Amino acid sequence: MALQKGFTVNYKNMTLREMQDYFLSNSLPKFRAEQVAAWVYQKNVEDPMMMSNIDINLRKKMKKDFEFQSLRVEELSYSEDGTVKGILKTKDNNLLESVLIPESDRLTLCVSSQIGCSLKCSFCATGKMGFTRNLDTSEIIDQFCIMKRYTHHEASITNVVFMGMGEPLLNLEAVIRAVELFLSPKAFNIPAKRITVSTAGVVPKILQLCKSVPVNLAVSLHAAKDDLRNKLVPLNRKFPIAKLFETLKEIPNLSKRHPVFFEYTLLSGINDSKHDARNLVALLKGVPSKLNIIPVNQHSGSNFKTPEANVIDTFMGILASGGLVTTLRKSRGSDIGAACGQLALRRVF
Ligand code: SAH
Repeated sequence: MALQKGFTVNYKNMTLREMQDYFLSNSLPKFRAEQVAAWVYQKNVEDPMMMSNIDINLRKKMKKDFEFQSLRVEELSYSEDGTVKGILKTKDNNLLESVLIPESDRLTLCVSSQIGCSLKCSFCATGKMGFTRNLDTSEIIDQFCIMKRYTHHEASITNVVFMGMGEPLLNLEAVIRAVELFLSPKAFNIPAKRITVSTAGVVPKILQLCKSVPVNLAVSLHAAKDDLRNKLVPLNRKFPIAKLFETLKEIPNLSKRHPVFFEYTLLSGINDSKHDARNLVALLKGVPSKLNIIPVNQHSGSNFKTPEANVIDTFMGILASGGLVTTLRKSRGSDIGAACGQLALRRVF
């Protein structure tokens, strides 16, 4: 990519191929692209002057041509369970959130793809903020760099989930470019099976994502019938369940080893009955899937309540005897407002 003279480009918006083109167009070998990527993405060094294996004149040129940072830390909060929430600020003073979640065998980063969200799912705090704008690739990538640098975790980030603020499939181009950098062995080198993009069901974009990058797809289902899903996920009025499942069945390589992940937020008295569980079993029969049940994280912006433990048990029991592969997701970081659907809470309520 030829850069416009006198115009600074954010390095983290560039793919490796575009960086190779940059070096070639400056009559330099393209392996420089890999060297720079190793500094920035693997060693977390963002000042070209410190890239000691690169010619000094080139270091100076890169310092002029590129900026390397998009975000800065506004606030970091540490949960008792080890979860870290970062409130990060863009150059145009918008705030977004990223959450780092340690588990015994992995360290997962939950990234945002938009400032706010346009979908207004009834129980989600982010939806209450409204939509401001899409993040660009550098702003998605920088969440990784910053959370890695400023948190106390020694371990490397092993998993990336697009489950923060926003709807990734409504910002697909920037999300795919970011995923390509996460996947690239020369950049972040995260295996495809450890990257998950979650959607509320933007049906026309699903196959485009799955054919572009080999990530896991998660779908926020929350109801197995249209009348209820219309209320919980208003996007369902545009893309109803039958259309969604028609599309899911066309995902390349769909199999038990490469299933669709479904999220089902359990809301007391709304979608947690035995009847709801049976509907879910019927809907998912024959679809290679893994189902994540998430008891709703309560927040002051909505009246939804978490079901009692025995109701959750009964619900899970019906799913298990219906042959579904199901896990109950433990809420993480709720004491710092970092749990699912709590992002943006403090500024809104
Ligand atoms: N827009 C995308 C990405 C967000 S993922 C999507 O909808 O998939 C965040 C997940 O947390 C979604 O499944 C969302 O429905 C769920 N969620 C939102 N608010 C929640 C809450 N209060 N409690 C539990 N889960 C919630």
